[in-house]
Amino acid sequence: MTTEAAEYFSRELLGWYRENKRILPWRMNRDPYRIWVSEVMLQQTRVDTVIPYYERFMDKFPTAAALAEAPEEEVLKCWEGLGYYSRARNLQAGAQEVVGRHDGVVPDDKEAVSALRGVGPYTTGAIMSIAFNRPEPAVDGNVMRVLSRYFCLEDDIAKPSTRVSIEKLAASLIPEGAAGDFNQALMELGALVCTPKSPGCLTCPVMAHCEGRMAGKEHILPIKTKAKPPRPEVRLAALVVGTGEHAGQILIRQRPDSGLLARMWELPHVTGPAAEAGESTGDANPKKRRRSGVKSVPVSQLAREGQMDVLCRALAKEEKMLIRPTGWWGEAEHVFSHLIWDVQVYTAEFGFVLDEAAATEETAAVALDRAAEAQAGYAVLHDIQNESTMASSQVKPGEGLPPHYRWIGPEHMMNYAFPNVFLRLLREYWETVD
Ligand code: SF4
Repeated sequence: MTTEAAEYFSRELLGWYRENKRILPWRMNRDPYRIWVSEVMLQQTRVDTVIPYYERFMDKFPTAAALAEAPEEEVLKCWEGLGYYSRARNLQAGAQEVVGRHDGVVPDDKEAVSALRGVGPYTTGAIMSIAFNRPEPAVDGNVMRVLSRYFCLEDDIAKPSTRVSIEKLAASLIPEGAAGDFNQALMELGALVCTPKSPGCLTCPVMAHCEGRMAGKEHILPIKTKAKPPRPEVRLAALVVGTGEHAGQILIRQRPDSGLLARMWELPHVTGPAAEAGESTGDANPKKRRRSGVKSVPVSQLAREGQMDVLCRALAKEEKMLIRPTGWWGEAEHVFSHLIWDVQVYTAEFGFVLDEAAATEETAAVALDRAAEAQAGYAVLHDIQNESTMASSQVKPGEGLPPHYRWIGPEHMMNYAFPNVFLRLLREYWETVD
């Protein structure tokens, strides 16, 4: 790298940014809290998607103190649809640390900022440079791509050592007194011009000295070893439709306090066997019943029945809850970084909940077989309660739901935060029954 090329890059890029920068809601002022929220939301999410979420979030939680005090459910609800929900939880935990340690004000102190929950080197650099104009680099995937191309760097950007060297390079390029604008300029160039698949070299402000372009390597840089592809997993979900006093309602449950999608709400679901391709189901219109864009694999009627059996038995075993699946309703997909859920949804009738203390594998198996044979779960409950094979104390009617379950109607959707896939499925269900 020549000094001339580096100086040219910093100068031209800064000038271009100052003339061409987009008007974005987080650029209204240099409030570090506003910048922090925007940077967290923008991780793995496009600007256009983030804008409405950001505006709603800032209306609701305009300060670190407001976010710190809010019930977690409200924060997750506001984040619903953005995905990567641990970001929202960490942001709130970080806001609570700001209130507890720094009187509610994000400090102008790199060490203190980087010590906040969920704040890594990139977010630290973004806050310190954009809010306080400190000469700290903010290097994410976009910036690594731009610098790898401009300086024709062929090191694997998936390696931590490459990130460290690019951070040093980025820091060395920051013009005096313009850290905030320069870091945003790099991000803006990566977002608008030097894009991943089609770099717009002809309109690029730093084209004249771009070594990657001159070497004809702009399309192959940056070098990045591929991460393992996400593992596919079939999930069998129950769309349990209420009757009686729960007519028109659907059964949902809350996920555990930790792990994937912690404390979010969802349809009850279990791990299923991989779908077997084969004869078509004969559903009236499978295309119409496909949900949320997932590629539909024809599944035989036999395989569908097998999935319903697995769903019914697994919920009985895991939750001591008896349902009777009545038919396939649709399917949807949820992509995590390491996992893809292929969610197969079955409508079901609610049977009952076995008394957890009294329910043994044996009583559950007996009740389950009865539930599978009967026309409706409530009828089964009545039969079972009158049989000597199972004492009435061993079963509870529908009101004895486990504490993490709720019956909800469409009017309750606002009270619960759902991962995208279940949000879409529930919305589509309410539309079909309207
Ligand atoms: S000239 Fe092309 S490859 Fe080089 S920085 Fe600009 S857009 Fe990227």
